[in-house]
Amino acid sequence: MALVRLENAHQARLVRLLRDDGPRSRVELGDALGLSRSTLTSELDRLVAHGLVEVAGPAASRGGRRSSRLRLSGGMRFAGVVVAPDRIRVAVTDGELNVLAEATEPSDVGDGPEPVIGRVVDLVEKLRAEVGAAELTGVGVALPGPVDTESGTSAAPAALPGWQRYPVRDALTAELRCPVLVDNDANLLALGEQHAGIGRTFDDFLYLKLGTAVGSGLVLGGALYRGATSSAGDIAHLPLGEDGPVCACGETGCFEAYCGDAALVRSALDAARSGRSAALADRLAAAGSLTVRDVAAAATAGDPEAQTLVRDAARRIGRVLVGLVSFFNPGIVVIGGAADGLGHILLAEIRAVVYRRSAPLATGTMPVVLSDLGERAGLVGAARLASEHVFAAA
Ligand SMILES: [Zn+2]
Repeated sequence: MALVRLENAHQARLVRLLRDDGPRSRVELGDALGLSRSTLTSELDRLVAHGLVEVAGPAASRGGRRSSRLRLSGGMRFAGVVVAPDRIRVAVTDGELNVLAEATEPSDVGDGPEPVIGRVVDLVEKLRAEVGAAELTGVGVALPGPVDTESGTSAAPAALPGWQRYPVRDALTAELRCPVLVDNDANLLALGEQHAGIGRTFDDFLYLKLGTAVGSGLVLGGALYRGATSSAGDIAHLPLGEDGPVCACGETGCFEAYCGDAALVRSALDAARSGRSAALADRLAAAGSLTVRDVAAAATAGDPEAQTLVRDAARRIGRVLVGLVSFFNPGIVVIGGAADGLGHILLAEIRAVVYRRSAPLATGTMPVVLSDLGERAGLVGAARLASEHVFAAA
């Protein structure tokens, strides 16, 4: 489906409701939005006439009168793209942001924007053809670092060498010939959780992204909060210690320098080489290198040194969360991005610190959970970003 143009705020609310809640009867739509029957009928008729909304089959009868259910056009297709440091993931969704096709391929952001953007275009076009869509309604893109959302450019020389001010949005818009929106990965993971994850039932929540790069996404009052210059939630370089490890940004003691994957691997290599961890030393001898998955496996198998490494990282993460939670009072904290097996070990210790150190009023009923959507949250969130733009009133 080509260009979508909504004529007014009623239409925007109607299509967003159908996106988020799926097919609905006219009565349900009118009740949910508080629209009079005549306004509802005329706006829905316009949306149907423009091919944005269609009849989805009969609804359960209410008061003896049968009414049909309406849904977003079955031909609507969005794409979500996640550019990770070491791979590209792409999904094509329907209008309700259900994933219809998905692909992943290895890629190195260090190669610079042109080759990576070229592969993104190829993958999006391949999936679009695979699902039989002639056109895409919109494409959302997650980048692994700060993004200037106004200009659609990357704003992070440390995280994305060579990408500084590269016009990601404009380059992709020219190739894909549809609206393209760009944001940082933590924000889009939060949006994905809001659409299809546990964030669905919370108006205020915090998404904490661990892994190679750490960050967070904030949903406030039901909407993503970006701050004055779209850098809200960028917590990677919070200073945790004056003489801590050196960070990729050039400072010392940043949150990411303590708790990112690279920090955990560096500590694990120390433990292996110094003989403090037999399990990690064995793994290093066998594989020639270590990954965070090796640390998780050694900790799970009971290696005390590996457990100490993970616990220390978790405590630091917990203390950062204590600050964030007391400042922002989220209804839930969702944690994602940790390597397979690592999340559960981290979670127990993070919870212990958060519940012990926070004010009871802030955390008394606040769950701290691992994301059950995993990486798919980023794809759904990217598609949702595109849909938020397309489903805005003119
Ligand atoms: Zn830093």
